[in-house]
Amino acid sequence: MLGHDGRHPAARAHPADRATHLLNAMNTSATPSIVSWHAHIYFESSTRDAAWALRERILAEIGERLDMGRFHERPVGPHPQWSYQVAFAPAQLGTIIEWLTLHRGHLDVFFHPNTGDALADHRDRAAWLGHSYPLNLLALGAPI
Ligand code: ZN
Repeated sequence: MLGHDGRHPAARAHPADRATHLLNAMNTSATPSIVSWHAHIYFESSTRDAAWALRERILAEIGERLDMGRFHERPVGPHPQWSYQVAFAPAQLGTIIEWLTLHRGHLDVFFHPNTGDALADHRDRAAWLGHSYPLNLLALGAPI
């Protein structure tokens, strides 16, 4: 049976609804904010020269939009391949994804945000161009 407002009686406002709204507001405020992004360009011995060439081109064409990291010819941290890091502000994300989409060639790129929770940022919030790889999450404090 419908109430006089045409809705089912159970759909009318109830004191418990207010508590639910408050909880939802709290959950929204707890959403982590993204302070910056990293793009890690992956390579290995056979793609080392292509990775270096891409790095030079990144610096020449969009270098003012980002901070370039070191060129690691070995796996470092959670990264299972050789890699270098490109760090940038959230406002640059669209430009940098577009640029790397067009210019990465056969190199794979791992994107992750930085929110202050490194494990979640690498494990749960990652994006890839090309192939994805299992990361060494133990390096980020993942439970064994
Ligand atoms: Zn990173």
